Amino acid sequence: MSNREVMEYDVVVIGAGPAGLAFAIRLKQIKPALSVCVIEKASAVGTQILSGAVIEPTALDHLLPDWRSNPPPICLPVSHDEFWLLRDPQRALRLPVPTQMRNRGNFIISLGATCAWLAPQAEALGVDVFPGFAATEVLFDERAAVAGVRIGDMGVARDGSPKPGFTQGIDIRAELTVLAEGCRGHLSKYLIKRFKLDQNSDPQTYGIGLKELWQVPAGRTQVGKVAHTLGWPLDPHTYGGSFLYHLDQDRIAIGLVVGLDYQDPGFSPFEAFQQLKQHSRIKPLLEGGQILSAGTRTLVEGGYQSLPKLEMPGAVLIGDAAGLLNVPKIKGTHQALRSGMLAAEHFTEHRSSTGWDTRLRGSAVMAELKKVRNIRPGFKRGLRFGLVNASWETMTAGYSPWTLKNHADWSALKKLDQYRAP
Ligand SMILES: Cc1cc2nc3c(=O)[nH]c(=O)nc-3n(C[C@H](O)[C@H](O)[C@H](O)COP(=O)(O)OP(=O)(O)OC[C@H]3O[C@@H](n4cnc5c(N)ncnc54)[C@H](O)[C@@H]3O)c2cc1C
Repeated sequence: MSNREVMEYDVVVIGAGPAGLAFAIRLKQIKPALSVCVIEKASAVGTQILSGAVIEPTALDHLLPDWRSNPPPICLPVSHDEFWLLRDPQRALRLPVPTQMRNRGNFIISLGATCAWLAPQAEALGVDVFPGFAATEVLFDERAAVAGVRIGDMGVARDGSPKPGFTQGIDIRAELTVLAEGCRGHLSKYLIKRFKLDQNSDPQTYGIGLKELWQVPAGRTQVGKVAHTLGWPLDPHTYGGSFLYHLDQDRIAIGLVVGLDYQDPGFSPFEAFQQLKQHSRIKPLLEGGQILSAGTRTLVEGGYQSLPKLEMPGAVLIGDAAGLLNVPKIKGTHQALRSGMLAAEHFTEHRSSTGWDTRLRGSAVMAELKKVRNIRPGFKRGLRFGLVNASWETMTAGYSPWTLKNHADWSALKKLDQYRAP
C-alpha cells in the first residue's frame, strides 16, 4: 500500500502554457467553486516556452476582455509585414504577403512572459499554480479511467537511488485531467497510444523551430516589423522558412522552422539556421549584436488530418498537445487559448470528458484547421508545387473536395546512397 501524499482537486491541468492557463482561468470564471491546479515542470511559469511570437489577439479578448489596458510586458502591435523568397546566399525576391502571413491587428509578444503574466491572473481567481513539478505518471481508477497524475520524485541520483534531500512526489487525483503539455508531451503521447486515440487519423507530423533573441546595435530595427522568408538555405524539398520580428529596445527575434519530413540524410536544421544568418539581407541586421537567449522546440504540424481523438475516460487533450497549431500561419497560441476556454466550458456544462472531441470538432478551432488542411502536405511535392497549391487552397478557402494525406516524417528520409541533391 503506497503512503504517498495525495491531493484532491476537481481538475488537474498539466502544463502552464497558454492552453492550460486559459483552461484554468475560464473554469474559475464560470464556476468559482470548482477546485483546479496547474502543474508546470519549469522552475518558473514561461521559462520553458520559446519566446518571441506573433499572436492573434481575439482569443485573449475573449478570455480577458480588459487585457489591452493591462498588457503583457512585451506586447507590440505589428506595424507591417514583409515576405521574401531567398534564392541563394546573396539574392532575395520580395513577394506579396500571402493571406495566411498577414499580421495586421496582431501583436508581437514574448510568449514566455505572457504565460508568466497569465499565471498570477489565474491565481487571483483561486487557481493553484505549481511551477517546478513535472507530472511523470498517469493515475487510473478501478474502471481504467484517468484519475490524475503522479509528480516525479525529487532528489534522485542517476542510478535511481535517493540523494540527500530526496522528496517523494505526490499524487494529484482529480475528476478531470487536462493534458496541456504542448507538442509531444510525455503523458499525452503515452495516453494517445494507450487509448488508441490516433487509430482513425493520419500519422502526426512535426517540425523543429530554432529561435534566438538578439540585441543589435542601435538604429537597425523597425519596431513592429514582421518578415518571413522561404527558400534558401532549405532545398526545394524541405518545408520551412524563417521569421524575423523587430521588437523594441533594439531587439530582434529570429528563427527558422523546418519540417521533419526532409529527404536529405545529411541535412542539419541547426547548420541551416547558422547559414541563414549569413544571408546578405540578414547579416547586416545582426552583425555586431549579441544573442540574449536561444532555444529549440518541436512544432506539431499535422493539423486537421492528424488530429487524434481528443477525449478519453477522465481526461482531455487541448492546445499543442492535441495538435491544434495552424502550420501555414506558424501560429498556435490563439488555438491553444481557444481550445482551453472551450474545454473549460464543456466540463462545467457536462462534468465529464465525454463529448469534448465532438465539441472541438464542431468549433471555430477545427474550422480554422480544415481551411488550411491541404497547404502543408502540398509542399511534399516541392516548393513550386507547394506554393501553387497553397495559392489555390487560399483562394478557395479550403473548399477543395479532397484532403491530402499526411505521412510519417521518417518515411521521407532517403538513404545516403539513394539521395540526390536537387
Ligand atoms: C519556433 C516556434 C515559433 C512559434 N511561433 C509562434 C508564433 O509566432 N505565434 C503563435 O501563435 N504560435 C507560435 N508558435 C506555437 C506556439 O508556441 C504554440 O502553439 C503554443 O505555445 C501552444 O500552447 P500550449 O499551451 O498548447 O503548449 P506550450 O506552450 O508548449 O506549453 C506547454 C507547457 O507544459 C509544460 N509541460 C509539458 N509537459 C509537462 C509535464 N509532464 N508536467 C508539467 N509541465 C509540463 C511545459 O513546460 C510548458 O510550459 C511557435 C512555436 C515554435 C516552436
